[in-house]
Amino acid sequence: MIMPTVMKFGGTSVADAAAFENVAQIVGARIALAPVVVVSAMSGVTDALLNSTVIANEGRVADATAFLATTFLRHKQTASELLSNPAAADYVKDVDEVEKEVADYLRLIAAHPEQYRALQDAVLAFGETLSSLLLAALLSERGFIARQIDARKCVITDDEHGRAAPLLTETFGATQAMLFPLLEMGAVPVMGGFIGANKNGKTTTLGRGGSDYTAAIIGAALNAREIQIWTDVTGVLTADPRVVPSAQTVERLSYGEAAELAYFGAKVLHPKTIQPAIEDGIPVRICNSREPEAVGTLVCAQTETTPRTVKAIAHKKGVTTVQITSARMLGAYGFLRALFEVFEKHRTVVDVVTTSEVSVSLSLDDATSLPLIVEELESLGTVRVEKGLAIICVVGEGLRGTPGIAARVFSTISDINVTLISQGSSSINFTFAIEEERVNEAVKRLHEAFFEEKVSTATI
Ligand code: ADP
Ligand code: ASP
Ligand code: MG
Repeated sequence: MIMPTVMKFGGTSVADAAAFENVAQIVGARIALAPVVVVSAMSGVTDALLNSTVIANEGRVADATAFLATTFLRHKQTASELLSNPAAADYVKDVDEVEKEVADYLRLIAAHPEQYRALQDAVLAFGETLSSLLLAALLSERGFIARQIDARKCVITDDEHGRAAPLLTETFGATQAMLFPLLEMGAVPVMGGFIGANKNGKTTTLGRGGSDYTAAIIGAALNAREIQIWTDVTGVLTADPRVVPSAQTVERLSYGEAAELAYFGAKVLHPKTIQPAIEDGIPVRICNSREPEAVGTLVCAQTETTPRTVKAIAHKKGVTTVQITSARMLGAYGFLRALFEVFEKHRTVVDVVTTSEVSVSLSLDDATSLPLIVEELESLGTVRVEKGLAIICVVGEGLRGTPGIAARVFSTISDINVTLISQGSSSINFTFAIEEERVNEAVKRLHEAFFEEKVSTATI
C-alpha cells in the first residue's frame, strides 16, 4: 500500500506566480514521497469572498460583485504568467465560469438571507477551487501527472456551515476511494483545503484557517507517512514572530505541546490539526516554503523532555471571562453541570476553567451569545463579565511536575494584573489571562526571560 505524504500549502505560499512556481518546485522535488497536495486560497482571497457575501447580505449585489473583480483578475494574471496555451486559456475560462457562479450566489444571498450561512460557504469554497485548479494545471505543465480533486468529494461533514465537523467514516472511505487509484498511477492529487460537503452534497467549510485541518484529515484517511504544513515561517516558533521578532524555531514538539500552542493562539497550526494525526501516530512537520531546506518543526509522539524546559509561549487576544459566584456551589452537586449546560445550549466553547469554593471563572473567545448566556447564568448566581482580555499559555512537556514555573512567570510580569490562572490538566501548559492591552509587552518579557537570558536557555 502506498504511504503518501500530505503537503499543505497556505495562502502566502500561493500568493502570486513566483510563489506558485516555488510550490511546484517543492512538490516536484519530492515526487518520490507520493505527495498529496492540499492548498489554501491565494492569500487574501477568502477575506475578499467573505466581504462580498457581507455586502450582498446588505442587499448590495452589484457592489458585492464589483468588489470581487480584482480577485478574479488576479487569478487570471497569475495563470497567464505561469501557464502557456491552451492551459492558460482553459484556466481563464474556468475563472470566468466561477465569476458567473459567484455572482449567482451573491444574488441568492440578497434574496434569501435565511440561507446566508449555507450560501456563504458556497461562495468561500471558490477560493480553494481556483487555487487548486491553478496548481494542478501548473504541475501538469511542468511535466508531472497532476489531478485537481474537488475536496467536497472527499471531506464529508455535518451541516454546521462555517464550522463544519468532518464525518470520519464517510470521509475516510471517500478519500481512499478517490485518491489511492490516482496515487497508484503515479499522479499527484491536488485539492483545496478548508472546504467540504454535507451528506447531501451541499458545500460546507471547516472554519477559518481550516486547510491545516483538511491536510490532517486526509493524512489520517490515507495513513500518510507524514503531514507537512508548508507556510511562511520556519516551523512553530518560540513565540508569535509578529510580537517577538527574535523568536526561534522549536525543532521538536510532542502532539500535546503542539495542540496546546495551536489552541492558545499559535496561528501557524489550526487548533484541530493535531487530533487526526495523534490517532495513527502520523508525524506533522511544519516547513517554510520560502526556505524549503530548513528543518522546521517536527511534531510527533515523542519529544525530548528536557526537564524544566519551556518550549514556546502562545497567546490569543479578544478573550472574555465570565465569573459566576454562588454560595449554592458549596457542597452541592449538579451545580457545574447546570452551569456548563448553559454554554452547551448556546454552542459556546469554554477555553479555561478555574474554580474556587464559591465561584467558577471561565474564558471564552466567541462571545456572540454572551448576553443570552449571562441572562441564564444569573439564575445560578452573581455573574461578572470582563472583556478585552488575552490569554497567555506557556507550554512544555518538561513543565510536568516542575515547581517554580509560576513564580518565574509572575516575577517577570509582576506589574501586570493576572487572572484566571490554570495549570492545564495535562500539566504541560501554564495558562493565565491578562488585560489585552499589555499582552504584547508581557509576551516579549516572558520570551526574554525563558529564551533569551544568557545562562540557561529556556530553563526555569
Ligand atoms: P498559512 O497561510 O500558511 O496557513 P498562517 O498565517 O495561518 O499561514 O500561519 C502562519 C503565521 O502564524 C506566521 O506567519 C506567524 O505570523 C503566525 N504565528 C503565530 N504564532 C506563531 C508561532 N508560535 N510560530 C510560528 N508562527 C506563528
Ligand atoms: N482559505 C481559508 C482561510 O483563509 C483556509 C486556510 O487558508 O486555511 O481561512
Ligand atoms: Mg493557516
